[in-house]
Amino acid sequence: MPGDLPSLLEATQESLVGQFRVWNEPAFRANQVLDWVFKRRVRSFDEMTNLSRVLRTKLAEAYVLRTMEFASVTGSKDTTRKYLFKLRDGRYVETVLIPANPALYGEKSDRLTLCVSSQVGCAYDCKFCASGLAGFTRNLTAGEIVEQVIAVEELAADRIDNLVFMGMGEPLANFTNLLTAVTVLNSPQGVGIGARHMTVSTSGVAPNIRKLAEFPLQVRLAISLHGATDEVRDKIMPVNRKYPLKVLFEALQHWYELRKQHLTFEFILIEGVNNSLDQARHLAKLARPLRAKVNLIPYNTVDGLAWERPSEARQEAFLDVLLNAGVVATLRREKGHDIAAACGQLRLKQETAEGIIESPIPEKRITIGAA
Ligand code: SAH
Repeated sequence: MPGDLPSLLEATQESLVGQFRVWNEPAFRANQVLDWVFKRRVRSFDEMTNLSRVLRTKLAEAYVLRTMEFASVTGSKDTTRKYLFKLRDGRYVETVLIPANPALYGEKSDRLTLCVSSQVGCAYDCKFCASGLAGFTRNLTAGEIVEQVIAVEELAADRIDNLVFMGMGEPLANFTNLLTAVTVLNSPQGVGIGARHMTVSTSGVAPNIRKLAEFPLQVRLAISLHGATDEVRDKIMPVNRKYPLKVLFEALQHWYELRKQHLTFEFILIEGVNNSLDQARHLAKLARPLRAKVNLIPYNTVDGLAWERPSEARQEAFLDVLLNAGVVATLRREKGHDIAAACGQLRLKQETAEGIIESPIPEKRITIGAA
């Protein structure tokens, strides 16, 4: 977005102090600004009343405080809510608020979880997912990632205490912006969400899993596995051809050794594709050495794709194979399915004369789903 000023919502303390040094302003002023931005959540520079008028003007010429416009919300107050925001370039991004979320990690909790998007569209082309149907448009800036949290907190008048990077996009393909966003979201001078309450989910971008392992903040990692052999994974996730299971699991081993932290494997159950009990046995073999937890997710239907979820009996049988093999596993009862806010249902939006519509599915994709 050439010509657009950067958002203060992506200012780490370090970067802002650096800028203030260039401006010959003392570091404590930068901290005052961060306090206005992240603690008091002001929406204009004029509200920063302990700063001189000159400094406020300087800030207003260098930064903006908000870049997104609230477009709509679907869902009700006590269920999953899907927020749609319009970005500065007219594109749209969705963010999903998930109240009390025992389903995700099995614990009883009254936590408020936010599922944030990291890109507009997605380039990874997983065959079952709505997010990649219309291809990739662009990375979100770090500011746009952080602003989803700030904006939903404002709209919902509540604090978010758990974040999952499981919205639209591949977070590890927008790596630099992801790390900046995580830094700001975690910082006590920023949004202040504990790193252990943030989960980055990836389709398996192995080199960046290694890099993330070395990132000092202890964020959690979830892998969208969805196939326990290369044969199955190759068919449904093109990323597997670039980083096959061997390469992926070397990176996960590296993560496990450095972090001593359990991983989560997400595994969608798709009828006739990856739900054989043989897949379950392979999955158990992959999960056990890493002590990974497996989240089984019955496939969420996507309009225009012909994939289906297996019967409940098969879902349970698949789960039993894992449990009997000593793997910690749960069968997820998805939220937000009815408002197309569940995993894999977030879809590129575009504005037309008739209003905001979902991007059409390219002709060639409609049949692939029936594989
Ligand atoms: N690109 C990252 C982040 C997106 S997370 C990743 O792949 O992990 C979104 C999750 O929803 C992923 O686990 C994805 O595989 C899953 N998903 C995609 N389509 C789905 C569908 N139709 N039903 C259930 N889960 C789906």
